[in-house]
Amino acid sequence: MTEPFAETTRRIRERVTAAAQRADRDPSEITVVAVSKTFPREDISLALGHGFRVFGESRVQEIRQKFTEDPLPDDARLHLIGPLQTNKIRHALKFIDMLETVDRANLIDALGKELAKTERSLQILLQVNISGEEQKSGVPPEGAEDLLRHAIDTTGLEPIGLMTMAPYGADESVQRAVFGGLRNLRDQLQESTGTALPCLSMGMSDDFEVAIEEGATHIRLGRSLFGHRELTI
Ligand SMILES: *Cc1c(COP(=O)(O)O)cnc(C)c1O
Repeated sequence: MTEPFAETTRRIRERVTAAAQRADRDPSEITVVAVSKTFPREDISLALGHGFRVFGESRVQEIRQKFTEDPLPDDARLHLIGPLQTNKIRHALKFIDMLETVDRANLIDALGKELAKTERSLQILLQVNISGEEQKSGVPPEGAEDLLRHAIDTTGLEPIGLMTMAPYGADESVQRAVFGGLRNLRDQLQESTGTALPCLSMGMSDDFEVAIEEGATHIRLGRSLFGHRELTI
């Protein structure tokens, strides 16, 4: 990190507030998920000291390494924002409070099975591939309703919203179309299923302001908080 973390935090919060105000939204509706993947446990402690309470990690193995010895405090929450393989579910459930990347029926089934054993529940978001890029994970928008109904019918799963990513380096008009598309899909799904989907996780370091203007409730910030990342995962 090249500048004091307090300064970084102040600038980010200013930008969040300004974007919210442009959209006539209350900035307190927006949660920053501090994406700590690849960054050391000390950086997480630093962020905790500056008020961050929600963290995002992409890999179960890295979560185990970081938090087994040195767990997050009870009032902090961990979101898994990368793909989850079914054979890692048990380990993941020991650590995570929310899974943002539910994108297929067999993952829902496997989660349901594991949750039944522990009698706990798990908040989930459906990851939707709004942009239609081939390499992006996520259920296509046309498949989202079936998948959501499947999650609603699975004991232990609490679907509470949707997540997406805009194409890397996209123009603002494309970002806006992707984020607005996720919001519209959410509105449709709420209507058709009667299930409340208050969470829209969209926007990262390069596009979070547009995401906020389009209705994001969770923005996932890695580099803009913690600095340059060596590995691209
Ligand atoms: C890495 C990652 C982020 C954070 O990206 P930055 O560009 O560092 O802000 C957000 N969401 C997902 C799904 C990620 O994998």
